[in-house]
Amino acid sequence: MRIAIIGAGATGLAAAFDLARAGHTAVVYEASGRLGGLAAGFREPHWQWSVERFYHHWFHSDKDILRLAEELGVRDKVIYKTPITALYHAGRFYPFDSPLAVLTFPGIPMADRVRFGAVGAYLKLTRDWQRLEHYTAHDWLGRRVGPRAYQALWEPMLEGKFGRHYQDVNMAWFWARIHARTRKLGTFEGGFQAFMDVLGAAIQHHRGTLHLDCHVQRLQPEAGRWCVVTARGEETFDLVLSTTSPALFSAMVPDLSPAYLDRLSTLRSLGAIALVVALDRPLGDGVYWYNLPKRAGFPCLCLVEHTSFISPDKFGGDHIVYLGDYLPSDHTYMTMSQDQMLREYMPALTLINKAFSPQWIRKSWLFRAGYAQPVPTRDHSRNIPDTATPLRGLYWASMSHVYPWDRGTNYAVQLGRRVAARMLAEAR
Ligand SMILES: Cc1cc2nc3c(=O)[nH]c(=O)nc-3n(C[C@H](O)[C@H](O)[C@H](O)COP(=O)(O)OP(=O)(O)OC[C@H]3O[C@@H](n4cnc5c(N)ncnc54)[C@H](O)[C@@H]3O)c2cc1C
Repeated sequence: MRIAIIGAGATGLAAAFDLARAGHTAVVYEASGRLGGLAAGFREPHWQWSVERFYHHWFHSDKDILRLAEELGVRDKVIYKTPITALYHAGRFYPFDSPLAVLTFPGIPMADRVRFGAVGAYLKLTRDWQRLEHYTAHDWLGRRVGPRAYQALWEPMLEGKFGRHYQDVNMAWFWARIHARTRKLGTFEGGFQAFMDVLGAAIQHHRGTLHLDCHVQRLQPEAGRWCVVTARGEETFDLVLSTTSPALFSAMVPDLSPAYLDRLSTLRSLGAIALVVALDRPLGDGVYWYNLPKRAGFPCLCLVEHTSFISPDKFGGDHIVYLGDYLPSDHTYMTMSQDQMLREYMPALTLINKAFSPQWIRKSWLFRAGYAQPVPTRDHSRNIPDTATPLRGLYWASMSHVYPWDRGTNYAVQLGRRVAARMLAEAR
């Protein structure tokens, strides 16, 4: 069969790999000039490794990525370390990534710390997320860990991440974060871009085609097949898989029924922004991930010192720092200039290190994405659309299909491979 895949993010590439390996003609269309989607990276000429446009790491529990790396023959290039994650309290950051760190965290009374730890242990052990999705994380956590611990620890993080939606996010999503995440964090030798390029090369090895800088304008049914329309022309396929956002997918297929489009329009999501700065010296004292409470005056959700995880030697001695946040796609930050964003976010650098001076910045980059984080509300499993659309031969698999797990490249690979298997089974 001839099969088109729209989008060369982790979902599209994983699907294309399996489809091409099964002997079909897989053709990937990607609007941007590179593979990897949200996990793509960039590289300065003097860097050995690329840096992800948005901070990325894998967890030790990310089995689907590890399995794929094994199949690609690059498992030995997945590197795991245990970098430090820190939480803010009263003007200082404290490590907050182990049971001992929780027990010694001074932000809440000892009795609350024990209760907090017990709830964490329960979430780590239970598998019953279906029951938890009936509750919002706000209500469930507020009751279980108690108001003091919730207000000091989880509420600022939920609010920071989901903004005005934070009281609506369901507890299954929160459970998945605690249940599946590990202290050990992983990356790929050379950066995530290198991994995506290995995957792209494997698709080509199986005679798949990658069209970069090729924006798909429309998907049109035509005599039982599908016509993919781009500025370069039209090509016809037996099956099509789109991996784009609900809004882009809706706009691409005018033939979708109003009822189906209505369902897609109810899926809520947030965009993301990342200001990346290369400094001529370290910013912090070895911490990788700083959770920043906006209530304490921080301008964004997190500060990630990438070079506390990966040595600055890989980046010609540059120290790479991300300032990141999730925002509605119509937020003013989503259109501000890079200089303005530097001015907005620079105070976070000073709050981490009082000695910081703008002269430390060697270069900066600004990245934004309109569709970056789905917002799962109560009983969200009922809202997830089927990957097979009502139109025969047309499939759709996106971050909005990943649940209860928080979206991530591991789950994108899992989803891409699942939908590829389904497409082949249903075409028989
Ligand atoms: C700030 C941030 C931090 C993250 N951190 C992590 C992390 O630490 N670990 C982790 O594993 N994951 C992380 N993720 C999530 C991870 O990046 C995503 O889950 C994953 O990349 C989703 O892959 P995808 O293929 O579904 O979508 P995408 O990566 O969005 O790929 C979709 C692709 O479709 C293309 N496209 C769109 N429209 C068209 C069109 N009309 N024609 C052709 N192509 C089109 C886009 O250009 C894009 O390349 C993070 C994401 C963000 C935003």
